[in-house]
Amino acid sequence: MAVLVVADNDNAHLRDTTHKTVTAALAVSGDVDVLVMGEGAKAVADAAAKIDGVRKVLLAESADLGHGVAEVQAATVEGLMGGYDAVLIPATSGGKNYAPRIAAHLDVAPISEIVEVVDADTFVRPIYAGNALETIKSSDAKKVITVRPTAFKAAGEGGSASVESATAGTANGARFVSEEMVKSDRPELTAAKIVVSGGRAMGSAEEFQAVIEPLADKLGAAVGASRAAVDAGYAPNDYQVGQTGKVVAPSLYIAIGISGAIQHLAGMKDSKVIVAINKDADAPIFQVADYGIVGDYKTVVPELMAALG
Ligand SMILES: Cc1cc2nc3c(=O)[nH]c(=O)nc-3n(C[C@H](O)[C@H](O)[C@H](O)COP(=O)(O)OP(=O)(O)OC[C@H]3O[C@@H](n4cnc5c(N)ncnc54)[C@H](O)[C@@H]3O)c2cc1C
Repeated sequence: MAVLVVADNDNAHLRDTTHKTVTAALAVSGDVDVLVMGEGAKAVADAAAKIDGVRKVLLAESADLGHGVAEVQAATVEGLMGGYDAVLIPATSGGKNYAPRIAAHLDVAPISEIVEVVDADTFVRPIYAGNALETIKSSDAKKVITVRPTAFKAAGEGGSASVESATAGTANGARFVSEEMVKSDRPELTAAKIVVSGGRAMGSAEEFQAVIEPLADKLGAAVGASRAAVDAGYAPNDYQVGQTGKVVAPSLYIAIGISGAIQHLAGMKDSKVIVAINKDADAPIFQVADYGIVGDYKTVVPELMAALG
């Protein structure tokens, strides 16, 4: 059984979500290839070739792939699926965009956000905002699977696979026009070791920036937010942590003025250490917190900043 893993990359760097997806793929089959889609992404392919257990790396390049046009990414993968029984894709915002398109065109059911591989046909995935785990067995001849990277250990780097070129797909009617990228010196939210998140309690974008961002910068952390904070315009959309945002599992997650609704917990409850600051002692966030401070963030955060020096 041959399995294709799609690499998560930004044309210059290979993200370690790829290494984690390779670990999941190796539990499905020993025959694992990696597809790198991008533009000017040879360095990414060379990095993917070093991942332990990878048989070969395929590099498909075009301007549309470099800009992550989902229709073109889907067409590229579909063009290769003749040679593979399954494709495993990191469950990133981009992966969740093109994976269902591949499944629709192959006329199979996508298997989304797996957290465990039981055997080559059987997978475990969270349902009901992470409150239950479902074991599903797929009889589809070709499987299209997204992988929750935080659930798998990263594969090591001792390999030396070959790199071959692959044909970039084309898609009628979809082309790259322009993009507006958020520029930040902070670590990427899903890869950060520490995340500081703010909630509705911030009350304004100015307060969010004045309270959450300096603390994050002091800790070298990424910034996250609850959906309430995002919906109110206190924080940008790509900061959202939760069921309909990003799933994070950092070593340390600090939730400030966040109640701990199940949809928020779905995105952060696997963090190793959770710290909650909330003035309501009954807030549900304290049920998952390792350390809880009941108090007004306006007092607690300055004390924390002072203690950090
Ligand atoms: C389908 C669906 C998907 C959703 N997806 C997401 C998602 O991905 N992510 C997400 O976060 N939510 C999501 N939600 C929304 C979720 O249900 C909650 O509404 C949201 O998480 C609440 O955000 P919050 O904790 O910031 O606000 P609130 O629930 O209003 O909590 C604010 C907290 O701040 C505390 N507080 C107030 N003032 C202070 C102060 N001065 N000092 C300290 N603490 C203070 C309060 O005690 C309270 O606990 C989703 C909802 C639905 C229905």
